[in-house]
This record gives sequence, C-alpha cells and structure tokens, in this order.
Amino acid sequence: MTSPASGASSTADLPDYAPVPQSAFGVAVNEQGYYVGRVERNLYWVTDGVYQSAFLTTPDGVVLFDAPPSIGGNIRRAVDEMAAAEGVSNKVTHLVYSHHHADHGGAASLFGGDVVRIGHEETRRLLLRDNDPARPVPDVTFADTYTLEVGGERVELAWHGPNHSPDNIYIHFPDHDTLMFIDVVNAGWVPIYNLNLSDDVIGYMAAPPIALNYSWSHMISGHLGRLATRDDVALHQQYIADIEASSREALQTVDPTPYYMRYADNFWAGLKAHLDTVTDRAAEPIIAKYTGVLAAADIEVFTRTTTFAIMQSLRLDYGPSGPVHP
Ligand SMILES: [Zn+2]
Repeated sequence: MTSPASGASSTADLPDYAPVPQSAFGVAVNEQGYYVGRVERNLYWVTDGVYQSAFLTTPDGVVLFDAPPSIGGNIRRAVDEMAAAEGVSNKVTHLVYSHHHADHGGAASLFGGDVVRIGHEETRRLLLRDNDPARPVPDVTFADTYTLEVGGERVELAWHGPNHSPDNIYIHFPDHDTLMFIDVVNAGWVPIYNLNLSDDVIGYMAAPPIALNYSWSHMISGHLGRLATRDDVALHQQYIADIEASSREALQTVDPTPYYMRYADNFWAGLKAHLDTVTDRAAEPIIAKYTGVLAAADIEVFTRTTTFAIMQSLRLDYGPSGPVHP
C-alpha cells in the first residue's frame, strides 16, 4: 500500500529517526508478549510494551483497571499468574474504565457478565452512544468522586474536568503510592499527534498539575513500557510549556499581511500559508531542544500537530484571535 503522506512505495523509502533514548525504554515482554510487575504490594501493572493495564488482587477478588485489546487475553494470564502467587482468587469482580476509548477498554467484555463495571457518568453516556459490544457500559457511575472499597483495599476515583477525553478520570491508590492517569503523559516519549489525540487543549494542559497534586511515586500512564515518575510529568510539562511560549511568540512576530496579499481573494490559501508559517516557527526550536531528550521528538508531525493545536487554542480559547477592525 502506498503511504498517502509521503508517497513512499515501500518501507525502504521511509525516513530514519534519532535513536530512542535509553531512558524511554521499559521492561521486556515474555514469550506470550506481556510483562506483569508489582507496583506496590497487591497492585500490579501489565504491559505489551505499548499499552498498560493494572489490577489489584484482594481476598474478595480482582479489581481490573482498563482492558486494552492489544494486551487482551494476556490480562487474564497476568491475573492468573499473580493471583496464584498470592494465593488469592483470580476471579475478576470489578472493572474500572479510565475513559471510554476502545484502545483502553476494548477487552472489557472478556471478563464476563457478572463483573461490576465502574466509570464516570460521561463514560456511560459515550459508551451508550458508541454501542460497542466489546465495551459494556458501566453499571456504577459517578459525577465527581467515587471511593471503591473491595477486600479491604481503597481506590479513589475522581473527575476533574475534560482533558484527553471528556470523561478521563484520575485513579488514585492512596495505600499503594500510585496514580493511574491515562493518555496525557507518555513517560520518556512525546505525545503523538494533537496532544495525544486529545479533545480539550486547555484541559489537557491543566491536567499534569492536577496529577501532581496527588501523593504518589508511581504513575500508570497507559502507554509504553515503563511506569512514569514525577520527573517524567515535569519534563512533559516543560515540553508543553515550551510549545505554548514558542507559539505565543510566533503568533506575535509573524506578520500575516504578506500571506493574505499573496493569495488575494483566496482567503483560505492565505490563512494556510500564515498558520503554517507560525506553526513551523513555533515547532522548530522545540523539535531541536527535545530530540534525544524525549523519544520521537524528531517525528516532526507529532510536535507540529501539537503545536498547531496549542497555537489555535491560544487564539480561540484565550484570545485575541486577531486585531479588532478599527
Ligand atoms: Zn484515549
């Protein structure tokens, strides 16, 4: 198949990128393609190297947090392995959705019909809309906060406004020194396109300080092969703050007039030339600064699309969108 973006007819024509920094690499997966590790005590995380899931083993059953389809049946294997090692039941009794997206919840139906499913009320609404049999709707929902208590363990769920998605929640394990917060920070890596395919730019940028406001040492961030630290969140914040500052400066310094004059009555052509120039000017120093620091910083389309989204949010959410006609 031909790539529409590059016109490349074979993978041999695809570009090379900077080496992935060692700090971005995580655990090795086993022969079945997964790794399961202890976060603290009876809280475990599972990864296939790209996606992450988590579970708590308790005397009353297993509580599962997200079920990415890419890990799929390996979640069951990981639960069985750790429940046997702990000498507790391997029965999954509860499943918590972090948000409604299929790539984090699309294996939810593997765990049978008698599982108590818990999620934000917006997760329920969106799953009813999407009508996907692989993601049964949560029966237990909440608006702001919910305390889940199973087998003597406590988990605090909270919604602090839209960010990556309208329904993305914070899952705090106060007795395991851990926060699970999905699809905002990629430990050691840049966000992919458009701030990790996020809906709400302001909400996405506001989320890391909320995450850091919780007490934790380990963060389960949903992607790639290792847990995140508070330093990973801080580095992510710096990357985003640099893009915001750079976008603000480019918006102020690029004169739009020549671009609109060049295309005369084709207003959209002038707009494209203007905003592409602002995006290029804002993104270039960020790509240079973070290449070798955050993996995939030199996949330019990631930083460019994130820069474009932030630059548009600066215009449209914060304003001004442009000069006021005299
Ligand atoms: Zn998502």
